[in-house]
Amino acid sequence: MLEVRDLRSGYGDALAIDGISFNVALGESLAVLGRNGAGKTTALKTVMGLILPWDGTIEFKGTPIAGLTADTIARAGIGYVPEDRRIFESLSVTENLLAGEKSGTRRATWTVARILDLFPEIARRADAPAGTLSGGERQMLAVGRALMGNPDLLLLDEPSEGLAPVVVNRLGDALGALRDDGIAILISEQNRRLARRVAENLVIIETGRIAFSGSFADLDADPKIAARHLGV
Ligand code: ATP
Repeated sequence: MLEVRDLRSGYGDALAIDGISFNVALGESLAVLGRNGAGKTTALKTVMGLILPWDGTIEFKGTPIAGLTADTIARAGIGYVPEDRRIFESLSVTENLLAGEKSGTRRATWTVARILDLFPEIARRADAPAGTLSGGERQMLAVGRALMGNPDLLLLDEPSEGLAPVVVNRLGDALGALRDDGIAILISEQNRRLARRVAENLVIIETGRIAFSGSFADLDADPKIAARHLGV
């Protein structure tokens, strides 16, 4: 469904992603692991059209999307949950969710009610300003807002960052349910436990290049891989 080939991008003159390739098949999930500064965020932002690719191709459902705007890419069916979550603090939870709606011809499968059902934690706060939510609730709201665009593929940038382990577990349950529902997920993570709950396969990015590509079973089978590329 998503095919990324030889992608290069960066900031100004500074190269950050140096020729990475990966696929996410329909309804499947892929984790992007790597140390701080490896290039995970840049890779996701480039796929989403928030950073212009310098080189390489990105195809989504067989159509080239490299160079399109983020809004066009979202309407094609990719949802994006940024690392900083970017919720609207003064708007209510419900208003934040409605802000994620995308008009157009895509089948509307997600409603505010369905999202509040998936995340009862934020259902209790539906009318409260989003600025009063905890970190975990904000993350759930950010995922919910992305779902309101009815994506076939969800890009999640380090969703566990700053969250307590119990909240990360809860998020893992919800993301697992989405995956079981047929939504493909591309998740950038440092938290390997969450990553393996969501995805079967992974790539490790190291200084802008793919250092390893395989399954979590492959990773477990050879502890040297994690030691070398993840420093654990
Ligand atoms: P983290 O886990 O810290 O978010 P990451 O794997 O997501 O790390 P990126 O944020 O993609 O890594 O960063 C890749 C490289 O690009 C790093 O060398 C970083 O310093 C650089 N970089 C990131 N954002 C910018 C920016 N806005 N301007 C210039 N360089 C940047």
